[in-house]
Amino acid sequence: MAAKGIKCVKGVRDIFPPEIDIWKFIENIWEETFSLYGFKEIRVPIFEYTNLFQRGIGESTDIVEKEMYTFTDKSGNSITLRPEGTASVVRAYVEHNLNKESPFNKFYYIGPMFRYERPQKGRYRQFYQIGVEVFDDNSPEIEVETLEMVNFALKKLGFSKYELNVNSIGCPECRPNFIKILKEKLNENKEKLCDDCKRRIDTNPLRVLDCKKESCKTVINEMPKITEYLCEDCKKHHLRLLKLLKGRKINYVENPLLVRGLDYYVRTTFEVVVENLGAQNAILGGGRYDGLVKELGGPDISGFGFALGLDRMVIALNENIKNSFQKNPDFYLAYFGENVIDYSFSILEKFREKGISVYTNFKGRSFKSHLRLANRLNSKFVILIGEDEVKNNKIIVKNMKEGTQREIKFDDLNSFLDEISKEN
Ligand SMILES: [Zn+2]
Ligand SMILES: [Zn+2]
Repeated sequence: MAAKGIKCVKGVRDIFPPEIDIWKFIENIWEETFSLYGFKEIRVPIFEYTNLFQRGIGESTDIVEKEMYTFTDKSGNSITLRPEGTASVVRAYVEHNLNKESPFNKFYYIGPMFRYERPQKGRYRQFYQIGVEVFDDNSPEIEVETLEMVNFALKKLGFSKYELNVNSIGCPECRPNFIKILKEKLNENKEKLCDDCKRRIDTNPLRVLDCKKESCKTVINEMPKITEYLCEDCKKHHLRLLKLLKGRKINYVENPLLVRGLDYYVRTTFEVVVENLGAQNAILGGGRYDGLVKELGGPDISGFGFALGLDRMVIALNENIKNSFQKNPDFYLAYFGENVIDYSFSILEKFREKGISVYTNFKGRSFKSHLRLANRLNSKFVILIGEDEVKNNKIIVKNMKEGTQREIKFDDLNSFLDEISKEN
């Protein structure tokens, strides 16, 4: 007997048809796009040793401080369900010396991530990301090509209203100076900040710029802009990026508050935001992380990438597109009478061999209850098979909308099916 009242864990969920079709539609478009741009899939484990994320994301980030699903396994190892994808991909790249043959690599991944956050619309504790990583290309050109790819896929998905935000967060040369000045200014306004931000002034002051609380926002707007403190090389990189984006007619908004707050991120950061998601309006974000491969024990090789939230993308996707997925098979096979099942199976097989989907139901239904179910499933056509049809090697196809029906001899079935395939 099944245990009563077992529910799924708070903050996670099941995904059913027809919504799952939207997920697959989105995944397919991204995968097709990735392949056009030379990205190859990589599959990394869902859990890793905890210290990978501590080092790869940073001890003082919200993710590592508060949001990870960490447990001790039976051998006493500290294990964490991955809260994001980049650290694992970089770990794999370093561990398997993928730079040996050619350091230049372009990967993409798709899969679930886990964070213990307060659940809200578009935010789940098991959520799904699609991401890409490019190794060994530190040019603004690869960033522009990647952003162009983002545009390409978003347009194919049917997104029309979205905004690309870009920023530069400098490098280990110039950022410390900015952080020093930022800290001073934040301390002058400390009383106006929320408790989290008061703490962040010392642990991760860049992260204050990210705070969404209204009281903090007024302080943040008065803060110096990081792009005004870039060193010569960072400035050159940033200006070239903006120039190339303009040249490619990729619309963007400069957003000096867009920081990733992670130690190994340098220079370019970006985000795509859409309107109809409330506070959770970012659907995609990324940046350059040139220090990460080295930090995780590899050679000094640059990295650049982004990740998008599939859960949010499904919500944000245009309603019209959603509706076009809610489709059942056009055909329903209704059989009744004695010794008709073998013949019915062979008819079903014929349809499927021709790539035409068809439903049936085996619960010993009467003619009437078959038709009722076909109606409920919105079938356009019902294939009728009774003893007479089996004896005379034929089927009857009833058009549910027009109420007409047509008799088709088994020998003519192939040409009938070809005709339907062409129509669809
Ligand atoms: Zn710099
Ligand atoms: Zn705050």
